[in-house]
Amino acid sequence: MPKYKLVCFDVDGTLIDNVTSSWQVFHDYFQTDKHRREDAKNKFFNGQISYKQWAEHDINLWKEKNAKKEDFFKAIRSLKLMNGAMETLRKLKQSGFKLAIISGSLNVVLEKFIPDYEGFFDDIFLSRIHFDENGNISKVEATEFDMDSKALALKKIAEREKISLKECVFIGDYLNDMKIIKEAGLGIAFNCNYQELKKIADVVVDKKDLREILKHIL
Ligand SMILES: [Mg+2]
Repeated sequence: MPKYKLVCFDVDGTLIDNVTSSWQVFHDYFQTDKHRREDAKNKFFNGQISYKQWAEHDINLWKEKNAKKEDFFKAIRSLKLMNGAMETLRKLKQSGFKLAIISGSLNVVLEKFIPDYEGFFDDIFLSRIHFDENGNISKVEATEFDMDSKALALKKIAEREKISLKECVFIGDYLNDMKIIKEAGLGIAFNCNYQELKKIADVVVDKKDLREILKHIL
């Protein structure tokens, strides 16, 4: 019996390289108002608004700047797919693992670098921006499952699939992955610059090549 059944990935800094937060990349590109951003961020951390409300607030700042789909793609020109990402995903899929995305990132990021991502992953938790035929933002569906709530998304999938958390793997790079890395049977800190996360992870992979995770999972 294989030890693990489900492998979940973070996006920014894990599947996608040259980025810690794609939100920050978009804010820089669209030059949104720092004070309004700070205000919403503080409201979230003080418990006055939900994560979803915070995310929708920030996406609305881009909408106000008339951000079009092509602008989002331009904004992330300097990002790239992580080394070995496609080979790793294909290998895991061929080996029969369920694959999931549990991320605070945005659909436009994955769409640019893994255009067929919807077919690869059995479950996808991330924030989505929809565009109309002219490339304008038409609809926003922000995730609730970022930060500590990433662990809730993991539990949701595990419950539905009737597998234990011990049989789940999570790979992430940042402090918003602390809780989910603790909960997963195998928590991998990948491309990670944070000692707190490295300390609680079951495995630390410093080499920036996703194929390095395979020997710990297969
Ligand atoms: Mg990340």
